[in-house]
Order: sequence, then structure tokens, then C-alpha cells
Amino acid sequence: MREAKNLGIIVIAICDTNCDPSVIDYVIPANDDAVRSVKLLCRTVANAIIEGHEGEVVDDEKIEVREFPIPDIEEDTDAIVEINYASICTSDIHIVKGKVPRAKKGIILGHEGVGKITKIGNGIKKFKIGDHVSINCITFCNECYFCKKGYINNCTKGGWEVGCRINGTLAKYVRIPMADASLNLIPDPDNDNKYSDLDDKDFLLVGDALSSGYFGMELGNVKSGDLVGVIGCGPVGLCTLICGKLKGAKLIAFDINNKCLNYAKRCGLANHYINPKDFKSEEDMMKKIGEICGEQKGFDCTIDVA
Ligand SMILES: [Zn+2]
Ligand SMILES: [Zn+2]
Repeated sequence: MREAKNLGIIVIAICDTNCDPSVIDYVIPANDDAVRSVKLLCRTVANAIIEGHEGEVVDDEKIEVREFPIPDIEEDTDAIVEINYASICTSDIHIVKGKVPRAKKGIILGHEGVGKITKIGNGIKKFKIGDHVSINCITFCNECYFCKKGYINNCTKGGWEVGCRINGTLAKYVRIPMADASLNLIPDPDNDNKYSDLDDKDFLLVGDALSSGYFGMELGNVKSGDLVGVIGCGPVGLCTLICGKLKGAKLIAFDINNKCLNYAKRCGLANHYINPKDFKSEEDMMKKIGEICGEQKGFDCTIDVA
């Protein structure tokens, strides 16, 4: 039997990688319902998975695949997850560029993923071995002052650790601390008819990209009919637009990258698409925005996801 390996993508130097939406090759039909769109979007970004890239150098000399020991339980509240799919995020690129001071060099990247629990600590109450889970980008205790207030990113025992300060999800196995709070159970499609056509891939973006977009709409208190500007049409921007659609907002998508903007357009995610570079001057662009806003004279909310 072939020995199980734990290969992980790590940062070994600083580089200028740019987010390339060409990894997204699905077209989301404009007339699809939103849930279906989310499902397709999850599948598209899932194409950025690292399965089977053994020994391959991922991005010239800056990041590389290295073999790591399979992680083990360190605390009673840990779980080990065998990754099926993991996503990439601009925050990974920020680490690669050296713009995240708290990040540790040599740590496996990735803070979002889905997979199967292979081991649990004695203190785990919510999960059992074999459960499929999505991994939250923030690990948190749910007990400290900040967690109780809902600011889990400021958790005194966690925060953004996975793929930043401890080994992340761009590997075959990952150790997740405080797993009862930091993991979300994926419904078993064999036991729940409602989810019978969904699999792990469909839940991939629950832990970061999709929840960030959703949270943006929540923070903006977006209601049906609101005019909402969404700046940036990368994966999180697309998720934000999808969540805006769910809320019934009128969406204006912005991006200076036509590849991203056209992708959002092909998916039919917004009511208007604006590339600021298409205008001769700021005044010209403001005129166009003024026409969109009409007597309202401005957006109800603008979400920066660039
Ligand atoms: Zn992220
Ligand atoms: Zn906490």
C-alpha cells in the first residue's frame, strides 16, 4: 500500500503574483436561481485545488510544494481534516507578497477548505470521525470576550491562524484547533434529501469567500431595491454580488480588470458594470454613476471587495 503523504504549498519568498480569474472557467447562466449560482461558483473556484500536484513548483521560486508529516492531535479540542478541496484567496497572495506581518514563513498556505475528519481530540463534542466539514478561515473559541460579542477574528485564542501562523488547508491534511467552533458540518447527502445533489465542492466557499460576501451585505444592511456598489469582481466580489442578488439589491459592479468584470457580466450578477479605466476623467465616471442613481444621487451602500 502506498504510504499516505502530506504535501503542502508553502511560501518560500516574496513575489508579485496577481489574481488571475482565468482559473474560473464556468459560466453561470444569468437565469439560474441564486442557490444554483452559488453551487456553480463554488465548483469554479474549486478548480484551484491542489490535488495531485506532487513535487510541482507552483509559482517560480516563490512558493513550492513540500512534504510534511501528517499532523496529529495536539490539544483535546483539535480535529484533523483530510482535505478534499481547498481554495486560494487574495490573502494568500498578500502573504506571498510579504504584506501580512503576522504570517510565518514556511507555513502551509490556505485558510478555506472542505474534507473529512480523520481524527478528533477527546474534547470534541460536535463531530465524529468520518464527518464531512467546511473549514472556517477563522478559528475561534466561542467563549472569550470577543467571541461572545461576535468578533471571532479577535478571539484571544484564535483569529486568522490557519494558513498564516499554523499550517493551512493547501495540503492533504490539516489540524484545526477549537474544531467544535471552527468547523461546519456538511450535511450527509445520503441521509438528507435536501442536499442529495450537493457534495463537498459545493460547500467550499462557506468558510471565507462566500461568508465574506454575505457579511458585507449584512454590514451594509442591504435591503431589497437598494442601490449597491460592489468594488472588485474577483471570487469574493462575485460572492458579494450573488448575496446582493439574494437580497434583491440593484447592483453596480466595478473592476479595473475587464477579465473580472466581463466574467461577472457573463454570469449576469449585476445590473450595471463599470470599468473606471473606460472613462476619460473622474467627472465622466461620476456622470455615469449619477445617471444610474437618478434622484437618489448616490448608492445606499458600497462594498469594497477589491
Ligand atoms: Zn481568505
Ligand atoms: Zn474566542
